[in-house]
Amino acid sequence: MPGSQAGLKEAGKEEQKMAKGRYADIIIDISHEKVDRPFQYKIPEKMQGKLEAGMCVQIPFGQGSRMRQGYVVEVTDQPRFPDEKQKFVAAIVTEYMSAEGDAVKLAAWMKETYGSTMIAALKTVLPVRQTMKQREKKKIIRLLTKEETCALLGECIRKHQSARARVLQALCEEAELPYELVSGRLNVSAAVLKSLKEQGVLSIESESYYRNPVKLEAARETGRELSREQSLIRDSVLSDYDAGRREVYLIHGITGSGKTEVYLSLIEGMIKRGKQCIVLIPEIALTYQTLLRFYKRFGDRVSVMNSTLSAGEKYDQWQRARKGEIDVIIGPRSALFVPFPNLGLIVMDEEHESSYKSETMPRYHARETAEHLAELKNASLVLGSATPSMEAYYRALEGKYKLFTMERRLTGGTLASVSIVDLRQELREGNRSIFSRKLQELIEDRMGRKEQIMLFLNRRGYAGFVSCRSCGYVMKCPHCDVSLSQHLGGRMVCHYCGYETVLPGKCPSCSSPYLLGFKAGTQQIEEQLHRRFPGVRTLRMDGDTTRTKDSYGKILTAFADGGADVLVGTQMIVKGHDFPNVTLAGVLAADLSLNDSDYRSGERTFQLLTQAAGRAGRGTRPGEVVIQTYRPEHYSIIHAASQDYRAFYEEEILYRKMGAYSPAGHMMAVLVTGPDEKKGQELSARLAELARNVEKTDKEEKKAVVIGPARAAIGKINDIYRFVIYCKAFHYRQLTEIKDKIEEYLFPLGLKEENVQFDFNP
Ligand code: ADP
Ligand code: ZN
Ligand code: ZN
Repeated sequence: MPGSQAGLKEAGKEEQKMAKGRYADIIIDISHEKVDRPFQYKIPEKMQGKLEAGMCVQIPFGQGSRMRQGYVVEVTDQPRFPDEKQKFVAAIVTEYMSAEGDAVKLAAWMKETYGSTMIAALKTVLPVRQTMKQREKKKIIRLLTKEETCALLGECIRKHQSARARVLQALCEEAELPYELVSGRLNVSAAVLKSLKEQGVLSIESESYYRNPVKLEAARETGRELSREQSLIRDSVLSDYDAGRREVYLIHGITGSGKTEVYLSLIEGMIKRGKQCIVLIPEIALTYQTLLRFYKRFGDRVSVMNSTLSAGEKYDQWQRARKGEIDVIIGPRSALFVPFPNLGLIVMDEEHESSYKSETMPRYHARETAEHLAELKNASLVLGSATPSMEAYYRALEGKYKLFTMERRLTGGTLASVSIVDLRQELREGNRSIFSRKLQELIEDRMGRKEQIMLFLNRRGYAGFVSCRSCGYVMKCPHCDVSLSQHLGGRMVCHYCGYETVLPGKCPSCSSPYLLGFKAGTQQIEEQLHRRFPGVRTLRMDGDTTRTKDSYGKILTAFADGGADVLVGTQMIVKGHDFPNVTLAGVLAADLSLNDSDYRSGERTFQLLTQAAGRAGRGTRPGEVVIQTYRPEHYSIIHAASQDYRAFYEEEILYRKMGAYSPAGHMMAVLVTGPDEKKGQELSARLAELARNVEKTDKEEKKAVVIGPARAAIGKINDIYRFVIYCKAFHYRQLTEIKDKIEEYLFPLGLKEENVQFDFNP
């Protein structure tokens, strides 16, 4: 299919050539009603080669063939209907190469790069207009003077009225607060606010929605004087910009090294140039403090997006951006699609976060999409992270990104001291508890000193791996070098290739009988804590305790208020929150995440451990971190303990190169689902064969490799069977070729029950 490679980076030159298809799929009225389905038109000969995705055209539509405007979403040689039934495109409306046109282009690129339907891609990049009644927006206004408020705050603290204290604390700083920040991030109930209102402390007022999403009366803050490192980054980015150079920049800086301050000054520079900025921050890190910093700097020129906004509210944000009412939007990955007329800069903080990858079709990655969007809009892109993704760092070392490193913590404070405990040794010396002797000692010590403790279980998903408690040996697939997952009935299964075997009676390496699936969950840990340390006050945060919408914030606030000695949790507690009274962090079994059966497990473990290590000692007292593990010799663990990113990267990239994993190579998972097991099996077998045929004709020196089909990690959900085919290749294009072939094969079948999805670099 010509045109199918458009926009693909690796396709390079092909991108310049315009598609030469004979048919155009056209969407009428995008972003107005629900994006419906595309209609196909013939392209008159004189227009062939001129039309491309994103262009606005005139077409005859409906019974009377009334002229309407539509957007080209795809140019193809594949007729969907008999030729004689199709009408011709009437004209190209060039002046409409607008925000909508850009969005359609971006959607077309996403469709090609990630595999999805055009409609799904369009729905991702375009807001759906919904009629929305004018809503009221509430704000909280301080009625007392600052001094009176502070006095009252002191009283509330003495009386342990912590919710009241939180509002008052904020009101000591600001005379006016947005209601939803107080009820949401500060987690203060309506009842508390009502009683403060009745006491005459504050008033609650409404104004029409979205005129002023947030208004802070407090003196707007100007920037701090930047450090030498910081101003070097700001100056290079801005001078590149002024000289017309558009680059991608990666700031590798530990937490507290001043990255956010750099973003703020860059945004300021962009606003001075009449440009707008998109700031991507993982939702979990969108804390009240972070938002406040942006509001203080840019006032009501900034707006926030998050997943709790309804479609109508999102649409409203889009409109405000389009009309030029705001300069900065902050939000998770979907904020990328806010249509600024003059986008100058995209900032992507914590670029390594896995939440930047979409879990629904199209499964786009925000970093790659941001890079493409920046190109399309002629904007700069700044990535920041304390533990950059392998992908970003690889590109930086290749010279594709400009790398900046910030190594100093600006707020002072020393890094915590980290020790590794060998759990095999503990067992050998007779300690069968989840807590090593060292960790027990330190927990007791901290409890005695009334300091706080965080304990992590870096576990994800259910599929447990099997390891030897005695020597740490992990049962692995002989074909894929990933750990086998334990299933019912003593079976062990590889989720990449389907290899299956039974659990042996004793360890193949040391013959010990302690060969077990690792099952300890956060709840068991909490129970054991109570058994071992009677009277300990604990809080637990995991998938179970955070089902409801605000429970996440409630648990964190309770812990911050000193409501517990120990916070036990999964990886969700390692992110983004500062607890100055925490002086001990323990990772209970660091290898848990190391044995996730996928190639990113080493990277994920390194990131989690580095973040966990950063949790202790944020205040003035020094912190200690204990990492318990069955594999103390693993490089992810060693380098996380010494907080040495570069050393970790060097070892990890060797492993990626050997396996042709991203970023050294690429992988595509083809997920086939369907209610009929046999049909699903057959379809996936046929697709795998198709992929192997592409592989055979592949002209690349290193051919793509097709693995499977096999049962997916979760083989059946809700009686829908799931099969997966993995394709690995050195060039991304080799994979999109396979994807295109599969799509071409599937298209005429018009399958109803079976569904095929693509996931690149899963
Ligand atoms: P990061 O985003 O890398 O975690 P921040 O930008 O939040 O770092 O900075 C960490 C702390 O240092 C913040 O409290 C911030 O106010 C402070 N800070 C940042 N830059 C400066 C500066 N140039 N001078 C003084 N303090 C700074
Ligand atoms: Zn395998
Ligand atoms: Zn063993």
